[in-house]
Amino acid sequence: MEALNKMTVEDLEVSGKRVLVRCDFNVPLKDGVITSDKRIVASLPTIKYLIDNNAKVILCSHLGRPKGEFKPEFSLAPVAVRLSELLGKEVKMATDVVGESAQALAAGLNDGDVMIIENVRFHKEETKNDPEFSKKLADLADLYVNDAFGSAHRAHSSTTGVADYIPAACGYLIQKEINFIGGALANPKRPLVAILGGAKVSDKIGVITNLLDKCDTIIVGGGMAYTFMKALGHNIGTSLLEADRVEDAMQMMETAKAKGVNFLIPVDNKAGKEYDPDTEAMIVNSDDIPDGWMGLDIGPKTQELFANAIKGSGTVIWNGPMGVSEWENFAQGTIAVATAVAESGAISIIGGGDSAAAVQKLGFADKMSHISTGGGASLEFLEGKELPGIVALNNK
Ligand code: AMP
Repeated sequence: MEALNKMTVEDLEVSGKRVLVRCDFNVPLKDGVITSDKRIVASLPTIKYLIDNNAKVILCSHLGRPKGEFKPEFSLAPVAVRLSELLGKEVKMATDVVGESAQALAAGLNDGDVMIIENVRFHKEETKNDPEFSKKLADLADLYVNDAFGSAHRAHSSTTGVADYIPAACGYLIQKEINFIGGALANPKRPLVAILGGAKVSDKIGVITNLLDKCDTIIVGGGMAYTFMKALGHNIGTSLLEADRVEDAMQMMETAKAKGVNFLIPVDNKAGKEYDPDTEAMIVNSDDIPDGWMGLDIGPKTQELFANAIKGSGTVIWNGPMGVSEWENFAQGTIAVATAVAESGAISIIGGGDSAAAVQKLGFADKMSHISTGGGASLEFLEGKELPGIVALNNK
């Protein structure tokens, strides 16, 4: 896999050089105050490496959706303040993206200095991957490092276009994503088990199709599982159904059979009367969910079935909860699977977005080998798609 062969920040000669780093500083803000600095903290290893190696560090990122206009509520100024506290050193803040302020600050940097330019999405050219804008970004620096995995599936100027003009490598965050996800797909420790859940089959068809060629076992739970049950002719009551995906679901199960992939779907479910956290609930078999009831979690027999399939695996890739895990009454299936993954001793890779949030909230984060920092990006990676932000980097 080509992604495994990309240059990393350690392959660059950074001393005395201006290095433009694309970070993911898309932090949650409330009334101008950062409510979680997790993404800033996650960017520290790459930034510290560059400072320690005497680079002149120029950081850039998007924040929210200012839609190509300067809007003060999307300024990266609060990020500069927080980053400065975390680094224990001054972080200079430009008042523009590639204009006079950014250019003057970049020109005046000493070795080991750090600055941030304004939100790259203040220019509409950014999301169009406009070559002139990419060149202006590149002109601020001698070298480029991409460390924003969450935006790596987007071909924008600051994630992709800039690499046309200056040498480009990945930072530690992207390197870790490439090593874990890329490594699991290219050369997994077997058996390789994929667990897919969440609401929609349509979101995961590409992932399942790609994984059918690679996995020993595929486990499907969550709301998406009911479309598979429907394909088998089961009565699924009022459970989630994507009627236009029943054919696809059938096809995936047939392909699995033909390829000798163990394909597991729930055999029983915890069903509720209403879509409500405190609804009346009962355990029902998958081949007979009564009319007026909806499956909101996997049942106890399924928890055991899935846990047994996870036990003894070499690598587990997990994306999507097994039920409505935000609700205590329907979180048990996700907790059981998380426990089985944690106890399996396997290399465990958790997709970003909802799965990462569920694993964190349920207290299993430190038991997993890798929790991806990109929801959409990790899904596209698992689909086998090339991520433009990674493709653009120089090969070793
Ligand atoms: P996704 O974004 O596709 O990973 O889906 C995550 C969402 O799926 C969560 O908000 C869950 O509440 C929801 N979900 C999981 N299982 C079910 C289910 N059986 N019925 C309805 N929603 C579900």
